[in-house]
Amino acid sequence: MSFDYAGRLQRLQRSMGESDVDVTILSVGADLPYFAGYDAMPSERLTVLVVPVGGEPVLFVPLLEAPQVEPGVFETRSWTETDDPVSMATSVVSTPGRVAVGDHMWSVFLTRFQKEWTGAEWIPASELTSSLRLRKEPEEIDLLRQAAHGVDRAMGRIPADVAFAGRTEKDIARDLAELTIEEGHDSADFTIVASGPNGASPHHHAGGRVIEPGDLVVCDFGGRIGGYCSDSTRTFAVGEPSEEQREVHQVVLEANEAGRRAARPGVRCQDVDTAARGVIEHAGHGEHFIHRTGHGIGLEVHEHPYIVKGNETILEPGMAFSVEPGIYLPERFGVRIEDIVVCIDDGVESLNSSSRDLIIVG
Ligand code: ZN
Ligand code: ZN
Ligand code: ZN
Repeated sequence: MSFDYAGRLQRLQRSMGESDVDVTILSVGADLPYFAGYDAMPSERLTVLVVPVGGEPVLFVPLLEAPQVEPGVFETRSWTETDDPVSMATSVVSTPGRVAVGDHMWSVFLTRFQKEWTGAEWIPASELTSSLRLRKEPEEIDLLRQAAHGVDRAMGRIPADVAFAGRTEKDIARDLAELTIEEGHDSADFTIVASGPNGASPHHHAGGRVIEPGDLVVCDFGGRIGGYCSDSTRTFAVGEPSEEQREVHQVVLEANEAGRRAARPGVRCQDVDTAARGVIEHAGHGEHFIHRTGHGIGLEVHEHPYIVKGNETILEPGMAFSVEPGIYLPERFGVRIEDIVVCIDDGVESLNSSSRDLIIVG
């Protein structure tokens, strides 16, 4: 998949001009692949794209990694083991007044840049880039959809292909990662398997707990296709669930539906959170919904826009984000149901559509 990197870089330079930024430096993180189509290897050897507000961007890359750079809409200069890449990079712009630096640039490099460009004011590049990356292009949505459909197929295979009772969370996590790859992902990036009381911890790391009949199991996993992320959660019941487990699951399901129904162009991000949260509060579980309703998704699994109280960003067609309400009952169990949606003209398209019911597994 190839994108219009020239257009993206031009929009970045225009936005830099509007914010009086003289130069942007991008290293590890999602901004570099978004604007240049190249992913920096996270290592002690610096890769950095220097984008001056006017003129051609220059990518500095270690000589041994230069063969991986496809000719792009920027100049590439490789540096050898005895070169100083920071002094090479800072020579592109002599004395910038304002510098935007990629959010994930390692401090070991940033502090060197700050020594070379003394007197400059520094801002995180996301102040410019997040609004440019917020509305996805149709090709990006296609990749998000492919990834979501892959994770849906994996989710759909769970009842038949994954045994729960008597096995550990780690065993299940390994199975889910395998299904994720089998269903077309380039990588399986995370697999949360939270069983029984562990379900009350939203980001629980799959561990050695042996799953028993009567457990609810929160399965939240995803990976990447063509750089774009999937992320979906369903909650399964091992054997017949209790009345209370069914009730809590039903409340979360209604909250998920309320969040998806509330989302449409013109609505603020926080309104989607309020809609989903309202259902859970109404059921008396407000204090057990301990995180925001969702997060944006794209090249990063968590990015803008965040679906959280206080975020007044207005939804627009092309924005992609999760709707993932949950109820977490400490030391007992948890339920979460998560879908990735894309804002369209009159609402949202849910990219995930695997069954949201409380499915019984063995
Ligand atoms: Zn999360
Ligand atoms: Zn998520
Ligand atoms: Zn998730």
